[in-house]
Amino acid sequence: MKSKIIKAPAAEAPAPTRAEAEEAVRTLLRWAGDNPERDGLLETPSRVVKAYQEYFRGYHDDPEAILQKTFEEIEGYDEMIVLRSIRFESHCEHHMAPIVGRAWVGYIPNGRVVGISKLARVVETYAKRLQIQEKMTSQIANTIDKVLNPQGVAVVIKAEHHCMTTRGVHKPGTDLVTSRMLGIFRDNAITRQEFLSMID
Ligand SMILES: [Zn+2]
Repeated sequence: MKSKIIKAPAAEAPAPTRAEAEEAVRTLLRWAGDNPERDGLLETPSRVVKAYQEYFRGYHDDPEAILQKTFEEIEGYDEMIVLRSIRFESHCEHHMAPIVGRAWVGYIPNGRVVGISKLARVVETYAKRLQIQEKMTSQIANTIDKVLNPQGVAVVIKAEHHCMTTRGVHKPGTDLVTSRMLGIFRDNAITRQEFLSMID
């Protein structure tokens, strides 16, 4: 059974204004013990809000739409296609702390392929949302599976979670590895092994 693609839920209340978002940053600055009115912090709320627009721009993109354009003149190509080591930056949904890592995305086509940069864009779109790594791994694989309907999809993500390397248990140098295998990658150990051998 294919799992359901989790979409970003629509906000129930109207979106806050930019001024309200900046005020929220001032509140956090005061709560941390600083004075948002001092010179060095005057522009900080507007910079933080701008940074948030970048960190979370993935809510405005539709990963399924990114994969819509495909190419069918592939001369029967039916071997593995793997985009390796796609660097991404995300934020964990529990602490809003950075998750920095790399993704390996592979699939075996079923008569059509997608432009390789589009695979990276799907990773990027899900990364630029609040995430847990397990969910992000599934979302990437499920979206490719749903839109391209390939013979199989494989996704591996390795990432460092700043909520546990720079705070909490403070374990720098650790990374979390997650994977999702669908179709032939799940059913065929040799195919799965071929994909996993490309990961360093
Ligand atoms: Zn966290």
